[in-house]
Order: sequence, then C-alpha cells, then structure tokens
Amino acid sequence: MKTDAAIIGAGPVGLLLARLLHQRGVEVLVLEKNEHRPVWSQAIGITPPSLEILQTLDLAQVFVSRGVPVHECQVHGEYERVGMVSFREIGGAFPFVLSLPQTVTMELLEHPDVPVMRGVEVVEMAQDAGGVTLCCASGLKVRAQRVAACDGSRSIVRAMLGIRTREHSYGCHFTMGDFRDASGLGDAAHVFFTSQGAVESFPLPGGLRRWIVQAKDGVIPDLVRRRTGFLIETRDQIDQHHFSPRRLDCERIHQGRVVLCGDAAHVMSPIGGQGMNCGFGDAALLSRVWCGDAIMDDYDGQRRRVTAHAASRAALGMWLGTRTGRWNCLWRDALFRALTHPLAARHAGGWFSMKSLPAS
Ligand SMILES: Cc1cc2nc3c(=O)[nH]c(=O)nc-3n(C[C@H](O)[C@H](O)[C@H](O)COP(=O)(O)OP(=O)(O)OC[C@H]3O[C@@H](n4cnc5c(N)ncnc54)[C@H](O)[C@@H]3O)c2cc1C
Repeated sequence: MKTDAAIIGAGPVGLLLARLLHQRGVEVLVLEKNEHRPVWSQAIGITPPSLEILQTLDLAQVFVSRGVPVHECQVHGEYERVGMVSFREIGGAFPFVLSLPQTVTMELLEHPDVPVMRGVEVVEMAQDAGGVTLCCASGLKVRAQRVAACDGSRSIVRAMLGIRTREHSYGCHFTMGDFRDASGLGDAAHVFFTSQGAVESFPLPGGLRRWIVQAKDGVIPDLVRRRTGFLIETRDQIDQHHFSPRRLDCERIHQGRVVLCGDAAHVMSPIGGQGMNCGFGDAALLSRVWCGDAIMDDYDGQRRRVTAHAASRAALGMWLGTRTGRWNCLWRDALFRALTHPLAARHAGGWFSMKSLPAS
C-alpha cells in the first residue's frame, strides 16, 4: 500500500493528527495493532488549548456536549478546605477543563473518511531517499512519504530509530476507580492533601465520578473515608486501576522522515492531566509542519520546550501533593492558602488549565 502520511498508533494523538492532516487534504493512513479501542479511559481532562485545536475541526461543541465542563477545583488540606482554583477568569472561549473519558475522545476523533487499519502491528521500518517502508506483522507493507510514530510511551518506532531516552520513576503509586456518583460534589473537581496521602476526585459524564488515591493498592472507599470523611460505596465502584508516575524524555523527536508525537515523544506524570493534551499540541504543530506552514525546527524546539515545562509542573505538583505527615500538612496548607488566594487564583487557573504554558 502507498500513502502520503502513515500514522502508527490510533491512540488519541494519532487519531487527532490524522483528522488534522485529512482536513488539509493530506492522504493519510493510520495503522493500529489492537483490533478494538481500549475500554479503560486513562485521560479525562481536556484543557482549553486542546479545545481550541478541536475547534479548528468543528469538534469542540460536540466534545463539550458529551463531557462535563469543570469550572473550579476545590483544594482541601488536612482539616478544612484551604482554597479554590477557578478557571472562570482564564479568558478565551473555553474557561474550563473538560472532563471526558479518553475512550469517548477517541470515538469522537474517528471519521469514516479517515482510514484506520486495526489489527495491524508495525514491526519493521526502513527509510531511504524516497520514503519510508513499514512492515507489519501480518505481512502487509506500507510505503509512505512520512511517518508519525504515535505508538505510545513504549514506542517500538523510537526503539527502531535507536533514539535514546532518559527515564525517571517518581517512586509513588496511585489507585483509581470510577464510581456511580452519590457524593454530592457536583461538577467541581476536589483535591485533598492529607497527612496520609493525596486524594483527587473528578466529575465524569453519565453521573459518574473518578476517585484517585495515593496508595499502591487498597479499598478505595476505605481510603477515601479515612482521609477525607467522604462516604463512597464499594457497590457503586465500576473499575479499579493502578499507576506509578514516571517521566521519559527523548534525546531527539524526529529522524529523517519519521517524527515522534504524543507519548512516544514524552511521558509525564498523569497527576496534572497534561500528557494527552501535550500530545494534541504536538499533533497540531506537526500537521502545520507537514502542510508547509512551519518547519521541523519549530516542532523540535517548541514541543520540547512545552513538554519540558509541563512535565516539570506535573512533577512539582506531585511532589507537593504527595508529602505525608502532619508537619508537611502544616506548611503545605499555608502554601495552598496563599496560592489560591483571590489575588493569585487567576495565575493558578492558567497554570492548571495549561493556558500559561509557553506556546502551548
Ligand atoms: C491514569 C492516567 C490518567 C491520565 N489522565 C490524563 C488526563 O487527564 N489528561 C491528559 O492530558 N493526559 C492524561 N494521561 C496521559 C494520557 O493517557 C496519554 O498521554 C495518552 O494516552 C497518550 O496518547 P498517545 O496517542 O500518544 O498514546 P497511546 O494512547 O498510548 O496510544 C498509542 C497507540 O499506538 C498503538 N501501537 C503501539 N505500538 C504499535 C505498533 N507497533 N503498531 C501499530 N500500533 C501500535 C497502541 O495500541 C495504542 O493504541 C493519563 C495517563 C494515565 C496513565
């Protein structure tokens, strides 16, 4: 098969890139090793810069109609609420962070005119002066003028290119679950920084709510009750997953005709909800580069700068939020009181909505 642009991986970033290129008239083919879309939603937070990108595809309204716009995040300390981060003052068309499960995001990004071949795993790749040849496990060969590796954090394309990475594990662990929501917390996000560890709680569409607790394992309702006093019921729990945040940076994000995009190019702590959103920024700029509106040096420079900032913010937020013990609570509560003071709250909103990332 021949195509102008081949995209390896039909995750949210690969699908968005395919849509953006298709809109500009580029012939595109997405190759995805899995037969079906995943059923577990990792990402739920879609930030205003991403909604602006979706707006260019006339998709922002349908996204907003399927999700929950979160206008504020209530911040709780050891004993009481210490403040609030509001997104209402950040300006622009989307003064909120949209909560939408990643599976729905992926469903909405697919389009009948944009071909996605599922059950096709790329296992080999060779570049020459005229293009790139991709060999798939099924025996299929695809010849493309350029290739985007959107194949996720364990990117095989990155390995095939011999691109070196720097990895760092943060040494902390989280357990999360989605619940039918009877908490009464409404459409606000809530974060609890307690002496026993952090708890985060986000609204989801369909009357659901996600609870994330800083713990390697355990019964989420028990941990939530002990740390926050909120009563959630095991019978309302839909699923349970674990994750251990890490960071991964690449020495290069393109080589010849092949470009890394999304988690293949960078991994950051999910605490802060920025990984997919950074990938959306990658896709938007890469589509412009491939359509001649920007050059590869822009992609390399801007995306490295943005993702390094985002990853550092995520690391700082996680470090602050995961300190345990009463002494840490004392200074942290005082710090969050200051950071969420009305005078500083506008900056806090820009920080957590990614609006204040450089060129995001
Ligand atoms: C618990 C958790 C919560 C998160 N919450 C948020 C959030 O709220 N907001 C946010 O912005 N980010 C969040 N993230 C991060 C977000 O999930 C990722 O950044 C995002 O999934 C990356 O998308 P991607 O398309 O780059 O890669 P992926 O989603 O990993 O997709 C890669 C695709 O490539 C396919 N593939 C791999 N190898 C091959 C191959 N050889 N051939 C063909 N196909 C291949 C895979 O099957 C997969 O479908 C969270 C992450 C976690 C773990």
